[in-house]
Amino acid sequence: MTKKISVVIPLYNEEAVIEQTYTRLKDVMETLAMDYELLFVNDGSKDKTLQLVQALSFADKHVKCLAFSRNFGHQIAITAGTDYASGDAVVVIDADLQDPPELIPEMIQKWQDGFDVVYAKRIKRNGESFFKKWSAKMFYRTLHRLTDVEIPVDTGDFRLMDKKVYTELKKINEKNPFVRGLVSWLGFQQVALEYEREERAAGETKYPLKKMIKLSLDGLTSFSHQPLKIASYAGVVLSIAGFIYMLVVLFQTLFTATTVNGWSSIIIIQLLFSGFVLIILGMIGEYIGRIYDEVKDRPLYIVEASYGFEQRETVRWMNQQQNQG
Ligand code: UDP
Ligand code: MG
Repeated sequence: MTKKISVVIPLYNEEAVIEQTYTRLKDVMETLAMDYELLFVNDGSKDKTLQLVQALSFADKHVKCLAFSRNFGHQIAITAGTDYASGDAVVVIDADLQDPPELIPEMIQKWQDGFDVVYAKRIKRNGESFFKKWSAKMFYRTLHRLTDVEIPVDTGDFRLMDKKVYTELKKINEKNPFVRGLVSWLGFQQVALEYEREERAAGETKYPLKKMIKLSLDGLTSFSHQPLKIASYAGVVLSIAGFIYMLVVLFQTLFTATTVNGWSSIIIIQLLFSGFVLIILGMIGEYIGRIYDEVKDRPLYIVEASYGFEQRETVRWMNQQQNQG
């Protein structure tokens, strides 16, 4: 039987690039002797993205589209894509052609060689700001140091997953998912495929600093408890230092004629320590906020409409969900 590949493409305000992306993906997929679906997830775009994908889905039976009721975020869009995918393997790829679709046949080759996950590792990033490259590099290395899960560095969400992997991924129901970490956590046979990340084909990044910080905090808090321990480590070091300084001050007061001239030093220490304590509190807050999200257990996303899915598929998917719940 011919195998089927599901390509999941999250979209947020990508009207400038969507048609180009569709053409390049289609050209690549047509060269493979395989069935395929292009599953676009419109993450609450405010421009014409949805209309454009809708038109594509009417014209091409390979195109499917899920439309969220609002912007839920890149990681959640990927999750929804894998939830609705029906292929023997799924490929997650960005819409802006920074991840070259031409790498997909190589991923499929590795999959056919027996690997369950083929992740694309960036050896070079073209056309991105110095800050983006530097912060990404630091983030992946810090995460690597702080966690016991083998999360590969310089690796985004561009990857192929076998059906057995993405079926397990669907069972993880985290509210602030860090998908690339979760896939590493799942295990199975994983292999890297190195590539050079291209410049965005058109449009602007949909990852402003705020979203970048949210993503890195999701990664850190989901995969490491180390930040929670900083308070204890720092507490021990500061207490010892404080005790020693107390002995020095007592000695000066009791046995020497030095007048202790203290105002500036007290203010400085006070400011530094209050800042430090607030940072630690904030860090604990990050974890508590995420616990709260889990406890509320709201649905991860709301699908307002879907296009290109056969009725039968949607019903089967709904039954599956009910059985799992
Ligand atoms: N994206 C999304 N929802 C968001 C932000 C981004 O679905 O809230 C999508 C976006 O359309 C693209 C992918 O996630 O397909 C990666 O975004 P982008 O290329 O802007 O990020 P960058 O490459 O600049 O980090
Ligand atoms: Mg991009």
